Parts: sequence; structure tokens; C-alpha cells
Amino acid sequence: MAFLDIQHLEKAFGAMRVVKDFNLGVEKGEFVSFLGPSGCGKTTVLRMVAGFETPTSGAICIEGRNITGLPANRRNIGMVFQAYALFPNLTVEENIGFGLKVAGEGKAATRSRVGEMLELIGLPQLGGRYPFQLSGGQQQRVALARALAPRPQVLLLDEPLSALDAKIRISLREEIRRIQRDLGITTIFVTHDQEEALSMSDRVVVMHQGIADQVGTPFEIYNRPTTRFVAQFVGSLNLLDANVVDAAAGKVLLGDVPVSLNRPLLGRSGERISLAARPEIVTLGRSDGDHVVLAGRIADVHFLGSVIRIRVAVEGGLLSLDTFNQPDRPPPLLGTPVEVSVSHRDLLVL
Ligand code: ADP
Ligand code: MG
Repeated sequence: MAFLDIQHLEKAFGAMRVVKDFNLGVEKGEFVSFLGPSGCGKTTVLRMVAGFETPTSGAICIEGRNITGLPANRRNIGMVFQAYALFPNLTVEENIGFGLKVAGEGKAATRSRVGEMLELIGLPQLGGRYPFQLSGGQQQRVALARALAPRPQVLLLDEPLSALDAKIRISLREEIRRIQRDLGITTIFVTHDQEEALSMSDRVVVMHQGIADQVGTPFEIYNRPTTRFVAQFVGSLNLLDANVVDAAAGKVLLGDVPVSLNRPLLGRSGERISLAARPEIVTLGRSDGDHVVLAGRIADVHFLGSVIRIRVAVEGGLLSLDTFNQPDRPPPLLGTPVEVSVSHRDLLVL
């Protein structure tokens, strides 16, 4: 059994089943993200783990002990919410020390632990301030310190970065991961932001309508999505219609270009299927080898700085691809006729 083990967890509000047969094992020290669109049940699972919500059925175990029936304050779990969850009338130090005080920790031990936590989050000077005197990023660091101060066995973070500015969000990502690694604390991080989930996690659980669609490393989730939902929700995807010519041999027609996918297809010959290509397997110009070359026109150019995302209209759809900025070469003009090459070994069949 994993350190944190969630078994057949279900939650219904009235007739609405919002969490369905959710199973997950999280290893000690692991950082796992729940990634999914708003309303898919991420917070509900987290609240059941924390003890704020009673499961309809299923079990939650930590180190082999079934904690499903325990009240939240006896679970030894720390939680950080999206925003504004600090006690506004308490100083930073009092906020961080709150859980220790409730647990009956002595004054000296509390003071020393609070000092440690202030160092850990990089705010040793701000202990006397009140939450309204802090930036959003600082408030979330204090919330993290408050959750960690009582030395929980598990840390739960529910979209802790969603309310912050882009720059601070990225620096806090790195800081949360550093602190989590330093402490070796088992963590579940909830987000609807795929970049956050991919960049921070040891493993990602992609959720969809109350179900864990796929669980895997960021690399697996991105490169080998097992459902259409995962493929489309995580990363950008070019969808191309193709006609199956020979299903067993994996031969299809993309427009009028014959393509051999080198693997058997589930569809029947004559059926239409969708092929999906990540932008990075599409390149501008004609490539040799395992590539399908398609003719098209530049339909869109997004200059993002270091990367330029280009959309090319081809037979069967629009293809996005990325090129790196070259300071001496302006991006192509709209309407320019071009060829694009797609590495067909890496096409996903959906
Ligand atoms: P997420 O965190 O992924 O956005 P939630 O877990 O908050 O999703 O919600 C999942 C679904 O459960 C939503 O449809 C939401 O409206 C519903 N829900 C959440 N909490 C309650 C509640 N206390 N009563 C009724 N419905 C709820
Ligand atoms: Mg939520």
C-alpha cells in the first residue's frame, strides 16, 4: 500500500455524482498534481482527504491506517487554499504559529518553529506584519508556512497560485517545489493550469467529470495520452482528419497523401479517424525520412518572443508549429505558400 492511499473514493451531492471510483496511491515524499477543468471534482477529492467532506463511499489511508472516519483536526494534514485564507487579525507570526498553539505546543517551541518557517519561506523580517500589509505572493508563502508548521504528514494545496500575477506564479512554483523537496513532504497540488502541473509534478492525475482519466509522469501524460480528453486538455494539439485505407497495416490518407502509421488501427477501412500532432513534430519546410510533407499557406503568426507560433492552413485542418526567433530573420508573412513536414512516427491516433 502506498503512503497515502485513496481507494474507490466516491462523492455524490444529492443525485449528482461528482467523484467516481477515484483510486490513487501517493508515495512518501512524492509531489502529485490533480489537473483538470473547473468543476471536475479536484477540490472535492482534496476536501475528502483533508476531512472537510465525508465520502459517499471508499477509503483514505495514510501509512496503512484508515483515516476515512477521522475529523480533520486529527488527520495531521496541512492545507493551503486558493487565496485570502490567512487570519486577517493575526500577525504573520501568529498565523504561522496558529496550528501549534491549537495543538498545545509550548511558547518557546512555537517561537522557534515559527522562526524556522519564516526562514524557510524567505520572509524572516516580516513576522510582525498583518496579512493586509503583504503582497499576494507573500500571503501565500505565509499560508504555506502555517500549513507546514505543525509538521503534517501530507500537504494539500488547492490552486494556491491561481490568484497571483504570472511572474510571481512562476517564481512561487519553483519555491514551493524547493520547500517540498527540502522537507520531503508528500504533497497533492490541485491546478487547472497544465503548465503548472507538468512543470512541478512527479506525477499528474488528469481529471475529467469526477474520474481520474490518466495517472502518469508529466512526460507520459504529454507524450502518451491514453484518452482523447487527456490529449486535448494537456498541451496543444493539431487535429487532422484522415481516411483509413488499410486498418491492419496502419495505412491512411491525409488529404490525398498516403501515410503509413506503422501500427494497426482500431478503425475499419474506409472510416475517418482523427490524427493528432503536437506542434513540435511539425516543421516548416520539406524534411526527408519519416515525414509527411503537406502544402499549405501561413494562416497566423504569433510572435511570443523567444518562440514564434505559426499556423499553417493545410488540406484537412490547421497545423500549429513553433519556430525559434532569429533576430536577423523576420517571421513569414500571412498567406505565404509553404510546405510543412509532420513526423508520422509521432502522430497520435485518437
Ligand atoms: P473543481 O475543484 O475541480 O473545480 P469541485 O470539486 O469544486 O471541482 O466541484 C465538483 C462538482 O461538485 C461541481 O459540479 C460542483 O458544483 C459540485 N459541488 C461541490 N461542492 C458541492 C456542494 N457542497 N454541494 C453541491 N455540489 C457541490
Ligand atoms: Mg476547485
